[in-house]
Order: sequence, then structure tokens, then C-alpha cells
Amino acid sequence: MVMEEGDQRDRGRATPLDGRQIFVELAEQNFDAICLSTYRTACKLRFIQKRCNLHLIDIYNVIEAVRDAGLNAVELNASISVTRLENLVSSLFNQLSKRLPTTHTIAPQESTVLLVEFILAAIDSEPDGRLTVLSVKAILATLCGGKLVDKLRYVFSQVSDSTGGLVQSKFDSFLREALKLPTALHEGPSFGYTPTLARSCFPQQRVMLNMFLDMVSDPPQCLVWLPLMHRLANVEHVYHPVSCSYCRGNGMTGFRYRCLRCRGYQLCQNCFWRGNASGSHSNQHQMKEHSSWKSPASKLGRALSRTLGCVSSREPPHPIYPEEPERTLNLANIVYAPAAHADTHCTAQNILTLTAEEILAEIKRLRAEHDAACQLSPEKGSSTNPTLLAELRLLRQRKDELEQRMSSLQESRRELMVQLEGLMKLLKDEEQRQAAQAAGSSHASPSRPSPSTVRSVGAASPHAHMYHPQDSLAGVGGDVQEAFAQENESRIRT
Ligand SMILES: [Zn+2]
Ligand SMILES: [Zn+2]
Repeated sequence: MVMEEGDQRDRGRATPLDGRQIFVELAEQNFDAICLSTYRTACKLRFIQKRCNLHLIDIYNVIEAVRDAGLNAVELNASISVTRLENLVSSLFNQLSKRLPTTHTIAPQESTVLLVEFILAAIDSEPDGRLTVLSVKAILATLCGGKLVDKLRYVFSQVSDSTGGLVQSKFDSFLREALKLPTALHEGPSFGYTPTLARSCFPQQRVMLNMFLDMVSDPPQCLVWLPLMHRLANVEHVYHPVSCSYCRGNGMTGFRYRCLRCRGYQLCQNCFWRGNASGSHSNQHQMKEHSSWKSPASKLGRALSRTLGCVSSREPPHPIYPEEPERTLNLANIVYAPAAHADTHCTAQNILTLTAEEILAEIKRLRAEHDAACQLSPEKGSSTNPTLLAELRLLRQRKDELEQRMSSLQESRRELMVQLEGLMKLLKDEEQRQAAQAAGSSHASPSRPSPSTVRSVGAASPHAHMYHPQDSLAGVGGDVQEAFAQENESRIRT
């Protein structure tokens, strides 16, 4: 995770007495001078995100906090108290504070107050707004940092059914909550909720995960500000060594806009968003948005910038994920639980495994690039190049942070494994109880199994016989596999 500017300024500030302090600070930014509603909304949300330090929190942190708060198995529509929200948000920031290197500190209590106040304001932005489990999940998932594609995968897990298809009514409820964010920032006229939105986003009969994730590059109109907020974050530190044709600033940071009609006419993002134009150029001219500065840099330089997060536009917008829900997911439905939501422990474990693999791959890649850089730099005489050295330092820091995160992930994975094991035992016991019951009443109604038998995995449905749990348990602890093995034996015996 990369620290952003402004953290220095925020540190040490006393908790504001006025709960709506964040809106006062937002107004001071004068974002309302931006004419383009999408950019205006994205800028406002990015400000809120950074001011609350939510940009340092990713969806996996949110999943952990929701789980720790015991909300993962609670009905999405259930109301929750403000105290419970405060506890969840406070644990989110306390955990963040522990993860951050000692050189970067945050004030968890201040972040908690600001974020809770903002969430409550968002809920209040709609008449009869009610704070529900879904509100909390939708708002945190939309506003947190990390990768957009990971956030959307989580959202999809909340709005899809057990066959991996989008459920329109659930997506509609998600939109209703997520669009409270722009509404709270007075952007409701452009991005407010209407009951026909969900259907217009996905008119197709059946929407699977990858189609849903396409909104990373091709978002529906009501959510255009979301990928833009992530792009804003990605270009925040991109520097273009050219001056703006309007404000004549010395170089520009962020997006750069080039007029396709007036030769050499370029605007910084502040001027373009506010509709500034000079000379023969008009703000009706078509402009091209640039998120990087291409100079005749060496291949090494490009490799480094890729590592630092500037993704080339030629890469696919998101990886392709398997659309059939994984078999291990089904375990959640087998166990007798009050509700079987997709973010139960098993899913969290899957996601964590994926992330661990991704992180390992990235560490490997960083090492390779670092080694390459070390070999190249003496030949090129650039070992004293301060920019390169700074980049290398950043690389090393990022590697350390990734490794730290990796070890904390492994810890939670171990924890999840223990819980999975417990669930397996429960399942086994239930199975034996069912078997004993079935043996006792097998003559009563042979053609009509009781409802409880239908729900049991041990029932003699063809699916149950074709199901080989061991296949999907590669990599899990021996005890868990053993639990499955015993469970199968007992099934054969009955
Ligand atoms: Zn300018
Ligand atoms: Zn022009």
C-alpha cells in the first residue's frame, strides 16, 4: 500500500467536535467549480476516501472487519445499530494502524468519527433511510481502496445466486445503497437512484461474474464515477513535464488533456475540468486524456513505472475468473447455519488464498526486476541517478509491505482453516445423526423423504454420489481431508 500526500497534514489533528467536519473541509476544496459531473463526483469521493484514510484499506480488510463484527452471516436487509457500525469502522482503522509501517501513522479514532459521520449522512440522504448490513457492506466496498476488480468481485458475491448468476433485485438493492454516496455529496441529480437503473445496467437475461467485471472499463452510466475515482488515484502522482496552455503552470500532475484540433494545446486537469480555454481553443473542442508522460525512457524505466502502478492501457481491463462458483463454496450451504451468504468463512478463505498467490507472484516479479535493475545500473552509469535510486527505494519498501501483508494473510488463512475444520466436524456429526434417524424411520415413508433429509448432503441424490470433496481440498490441512474421508466412509456404511 502506498502512502499518499496529506497524511502528514492530517496527523495529530484533534478529533473535530463538529461531527460533520468532513463536509466543511469538502466545501473548502471548491470541487463544485468542476463542470463535469463525473469528475466532480469522483474528486469529492476521492477526497472523502483519503480524508478518512479509507484509501489505505482494501476490500479484504473490509471482509475481515465485517466477519469480525459477526455480520457476514446476517441477512443483508437486517438493521444494525450505530454502535455496531462504530465498532466495525473502529476495528477497521485499528487494524490498519497496526499494519502501517511506524513511519506512517494515522489517528484511528479520528478516521472512525469522520467515516461514521459520513456513512450516517449518506444513509440520511434518502428519506426513510435505514442503516442495514447491506448499507455498510455496499458503502465500504464502494469507497475503500485497493483494486477495483477485487471490490467488484466482492460486490458480485453479494448480489449473485448459488449458480453464479446476477440477481437483479439484489443488484438493485446494492445500487440503492451505493448511490447514496454521490447523493450525500449533492450529486444526486446526476447519479441518484431510480428503480429502473439495475435493469438498464444489465438488460441481459443472465449476467455472470466476468460480464459484471467488465464495468471496470465500461461502467454503466450510474456508476461511471467509480472507475474514475480509481483512475484519479492511479494518476495522482503522475507528472507531465509540460506547461498548461491556460494557467502556464510549470509542469502538471494527474491527467493531461491535449486538444485534437489546436496543435500543441494542452491543459492540466484543473483547467480542463473547470472548462478553462484561451486563444483560438474552445472548450467545445475534443480533447484526449493522457494518464502518463511518454518520453524516450529506457525499457528499465518503463518496467519500473509498471511496477509502481501505472498500468498500460493495452493490458486487459481485468483477469478472467471462473464463473462456476467453486465447489468449496457449497460447504457453506451444507452446514446448518442461520443464513448461508457468499462471504462465509469458506469464501473468505478462497479469496485469501487467491490474494496470497497474487502477492507471491508480485514479490517474485519485484525481486526479478530489482535484480535486473541492480545489474543494469552500473553499466549505464546511473547508479548515482537520484530518481532511479528513489524508485528502487520505493520498490524495496513496497516489497517489504507486501511481505508483511503476506504473513498476516497466512495467519488469517490458518485461522480460517481451523474454523473450516470445526465446520467439517459439525457436518460430520449432523450427518451421523441424520443417518441414525433415517435408519430408524426408513419404513415409514420410503418414497417421500422428510424435508430435513432433503437438506442433508447425505441424502441419496445422484449429485451427492458424484461429489468428491477431496478434489477441491488440495492444499488444505490433513485433518480437514480426514474429516471428509471419514464422512464418506460413514456414508458407504449406511
Ligand atoms: Zn492549467
Ligand atoms: Zn482546441
